[in-house]
Amino acid sequence: KLHNTILELKGNIRVFCRVRPLLPDDGVGAEAPVISYPTSTEALGRGIDMIQSGQKYPFTFDKVFAHEASQQDVFVEISQLVQSALDGYKVCIFAYGQTGSGKTYTMMGRPDTHDQKGLIPRSLEQIFQTSQSLLAQGWKYKMQASMLEIYNETIRDLLSINRSSGMENGVAGKQYTIKHDANGNTHVSDLTIIDVCSITEISSLLRQAAQSRSVGKTQMNEQSSRSHFVFTLRISGVNENTEQQVQGILNLIDLAGSERLSKSGSTGDRLKETQAINKSLSCLSDVIFALAKKEDHVPFRNSKLTYLLQPCLGGDSKTLMFVNISPDPASVGESLCSLRFAARVN
Ligand code: ADP
Ligand code: MG
Repeated sequence: KLHNTILELKGNIRVFCRVRPLLPDDGVGAEAPVISYPTSTEALGRGIDMIQSGQKYPFTFDKVFAHEASQQDVFVEISQLVQSALDGYKVCIFAYGQTGSGKTYTMMGRPDTHDQKGLIPRSLEQIFQTSQSLLAQGWKYKMQASMLEIYNETIRDLLSINRSSGMENGVAGKQYTIKHDANGNTHVSDLTIIDVCSITEISSLLRQAAQSRSVGKTQMNEQSSRSHFVFTLRISGVNENTEQQVQGILNLIDLAGSERLSKSGSTGDRLKETQAINKSLSCLSDVIFALAKKEDHVPFRNSKLTYLLQPCLGGDSKTLMFVNISPDPASVGESLCSLRFAARVN
């Protein structure tokens, strides 16, 4: 591997927790804060306590970002991981949490602002900058991007120009099938994959995908919070001096909201949808848990998301899960569920 960026990962899986700030719409009032941070040196920056009905539930992660952490503070902690995709690693970064907990803010943020842009635009800027600077050492990189959504176990291509190939009312027009080849590469039939040479090009693709997602949102009842968003950058590098070759992949995933059934009061299609989300999130948890425990059988095939990402999970690939938490006292039950989910895979 090129640079000395190998992270000391335990089982190559890490979990970061991020708490968003209180927002004006949150149920603030007389209620006491539901989150505190341990002050002991041992847990400093790694511990978080949830408080429910006077009872304290402590959790420890690889890193905890309190509400005041900026997008840049968060990016600093993942920039090496992103860099390793240029060295030929397969990297997955997930954002997990209930709707409104800050997943999209963490992953995408406000891409056109300097301070509030999230991990996706920051990671891409870094990758293009670094690949430019490696030209001097003979490295030439080719990058390809794709963006898709998984809703109700159905894939939707967010870069397809032909809108009709997407879904109408949750019904797939095209069946995108996932295949893995002998080299461990994933192929999704008919998925649009675009060569990208600059940050400008990729920014316009991100806008296109966001637009495609929000079109779906109005048509399909806020579907975007009910679907997984998967951004994939395939990176192939060749060194013209040494003939060394690398192939890395960076997957950045904004997961569907993890809220439980009771709260969404689901019936009919909504019930089916919530069950599909719960199933695919629990499959993800099962897969990461099995990988962390180095179990022989890893149940990749149990969901579209895990099957899609199979080559990028396990082996010498690197996985980071953000668990996003809302400080809203009304969300304390969901927050505890999210922390327990994350503590299982940690
Ligand atoms: P999710 O994607 O999990 O549903 P969002 O990312 O949309 O949640 O966040 C919900 C709201 O909270 C948005 O208005 C977002 O701008 C705001 N928000 C989330 N995280 C932060 C943060 N760290 N700082 C400031 N605002 C945030
Ligand atoms: Mg979101």
